[in-house]
Amino acid sequence: MRRKVIAGNWKMNNDLGASISLASELKTNLPELGENQLIICPPFTSLESVNEVIKDSPIALGAQNMSKQDSGAYTGEVSASMLKSVGCEYVILGHSERRTIFNEQDALINAKIRKALSEGLKPIFCIGETLEEREGGITNQVVKRQVVEGLKDITEENLALIILAYEPVWAIGTGKTATPEQAQEVHKFLRELLAELYSAPAADKLIIQYGGSVKPDNAGELLSQADIDGALVGGACLKSDSFVNIIKSA
Ligand code: PEP
Repeated sequence: MRRKVIAGNWKMNNDLGASISLASELKTNLPELGENQLIICPPFTSLESVNEVIKDSPIALGAQNMSKQDSGAYTGEVSASMLKSVGCEYVILGHSERRTIFNEQDALINAKIRKALSEGLKPIFCIGETLEEREGGITNQVVKRQVVEGLKDITEENLALIILAYEPVWAIGTGKTATPEQAQEVHKFLRELLAELYSAPAADKLIIQYGGSVKPDNAGELLSQADIDGALVGGACLKSDSFVNIIKSA
C-alpha cells in the first residue's frame, strides 16, 4: 500500500501575516496523519516564517517554483539552495500555470527537476492536458510526452524522490473536477508508462497525486481510486477547515 500525500499550493495568495495565520490554524487543527504526508507550499516571501510555525510538526514545506540556475544575474529568480536554506523539502515544478502563463516548456522543466534533485529538493512534478487536448482524444499522448521529456536523464533512484501530480488543466481552479474514473484511467496509464520507462517496482512505489478542483466533498472518492495516491490542492487549501477535511479523507 502506498501512503497518501496531500499538498497545498497556496499560489500567489497570503501575505506574511495571512500565511502565518493559515499555517498556525492548520497546525492547531491537524488530524492524525499516520503514514500519510502533508506538504504546504506558500509563496516565497512566507517560506521562512511558515517554516518557523511548522518546524515541530509533521507538516513539510515546499516552494511553488525554482530556477534551474545556481546563482548569478537572474533577476527575480530563486535558487534551489535558497529554498533549502529556508526549510523547503519539496518544490512544485511544471505547474500548468507556469507552463501556460510563463511559457515553461518540457526541456526547462526537466532542467529544473534535475537541478532540484541534485540539490536535495524533492520535486512535485505536474503534468496534464488542456480541454482541447482531452476533447481531441490525445490526453495519453500529451501526458506521455510531458513525462518522457520531463524525466529525461533521471535515474530510477531519483524517480523515487519525485511525486508526480496529474492535473488536467481544464480542472484547475475551474470547479470542474475529473470524475474519479477519468482520473483513475490516466493515473493507471501513467503507472504503466513509468513501469515501461523504469521498472514495475519503481512504478509501483511512485506517488501519483491528482489535482484539479479537489474539495472536501469529492476528495474521498478520488483518493479511494487504486492509482490515486494523494492530492495537490489549490483553492481548497486556503481555508484550514476545508484543507483539514481533505486531509481527513486520505
Ligand atoms: C493547483 O493549483 O494545483 C490546483 C489543483 O488548483 P485547484 O485545486 O484550485 O483547482
